[in-house]
Amino acid sequence: MNAIGVDVGGTKIAAGVVTPEGEILNEVRYPSAGPRERLLSSIARAVDEVKDGYEVGAVCLAVPGFVLSAENKVIFAPNLHAIEGVPLKYDLGERTGLSVTVENDANAAAWGEFRFGAGREVDHLVFITLGTGVGGGVVMHGILLRGAQGAGGELGHVTIHATGPRCGCGNHGCLEALASGTAIQRRAREVANEQPDSALGRLAIERRVLGEDVTELAREGDEAAISVLKETGVWLGIGLAGFVNVFNPEVIAIGGGVARAGELILERARQEVYLRARSPSRDLVRIQEATLGAESGVLGAAALARDESGEYVLGS
Ligand SMILES: [Zn+2]
Repeated sequence: MNAIGVDVGGTKIAAGVVTPEGEILNEVRYPSAGPRERLLSSIARAVDEVKDGYEVGAVCLAVPGFVLSAENKVIFAPNLHAIEGVPLKYDLGERTGLSVTVENDANAAAWGEFRFGAGREVDHLVFITLGTGVGGGVVMHGILLRGAQGAGGELGHVTIHATGPRCGCGNHGCLEALASGTAIQRRAREVANEQPDSALGRLAIERRVLGEDVTELAREGDEAAISVLKETGVWLGIGLAGFVNVFNPEVIAIGGGVARAGELILERARQEVYLRARSPSRDLVRIQEATLGAESGVLGAAALARDESGEYVLGS
C-alpha cells in the first residue's frame, strides 16, 4: 500500500504519494502562508489532489518545530505559528478521511535518509539538516529515536558554545546558532566588515550577502569566504563529535541547503570529529552529504505514516 508524506514548510507544502520502495508516484505543492484555517485547508487540498486515483493507506505530516509525535501535536513552530496547538490528527483526519499522524520534519527527513537514502545500508544513522535552522534526527538499531514525548533528536539545539550567539530557541550557542545558513550569513557580514577588500567584503558593500554567495565565492577561491565556511565546519564538527560519542553511528548524513557547500564545510568538520571524539566510534563513522535532497521530508513522512492500528503503511 502507498502512503502520503506531507512536508509542511514555512513557505510551502509539498505532498507526495510514495510506494513502499520509496518511489514518488505523484507530488503537488501549495503555498503554506496564511492564517490557521487557510493553512489547514491548503494541507487538506494538497492531500486530496495528490491522492487522486492512487490507493493510499495513511498520511503523515512533517512539521518544523517542537512536535509531540505521541500526541500528534506541534507545541512550538517559530516559522509556522498557525499550526501550533491544532489537534491535527482529528482536524485533518476529518477533512481528508485518512489516518493522519505528525512528526518533526527533521526526524521525518532522517527516517527518509535511513529508509531510502544515505542510511539505507546501515542500522545506525545520525542526520543533520543545515538550513535556515539546524534540524536533527537519530536512528538507532533501525528505530527512530523519539524520546518519551516524541520531542527527542533536537540535535540543532544542543549547546556547543556556552556564551555563543543567541539562538531562535532562546538559548545561547546552540549548534543552530553557529552552523545554520543564518549563522553563516551573520558571520559573513562580520568577516566582510573586517576584510572589505576581499571578494566577500566587496559584495557586502553592493548588497546583502546570502549563504549561497559565501559558497560561490569560496569555490572561486576567496579566502574570506573560505574562512567563514571552515569556521562553520569547526562548529559543526564540535557538535558532531558529541553525537559520535553518544550514538556511535555508522553514518552521519548532512542535508539542507548549507550542505551544498560540501567539502568546504565537511572537511573541517571531519577533522574536528577526529580530534574530539573517542575511538573506536570516530574511526567507524562516515560523515557524508545526504542523498535525497529536498525530497527527504516527503519520503520520510510517507514512510512514517501509520494506519489506525499504529502500523507503518510502507512497512518498517
Ligand atoms: Zn537553540
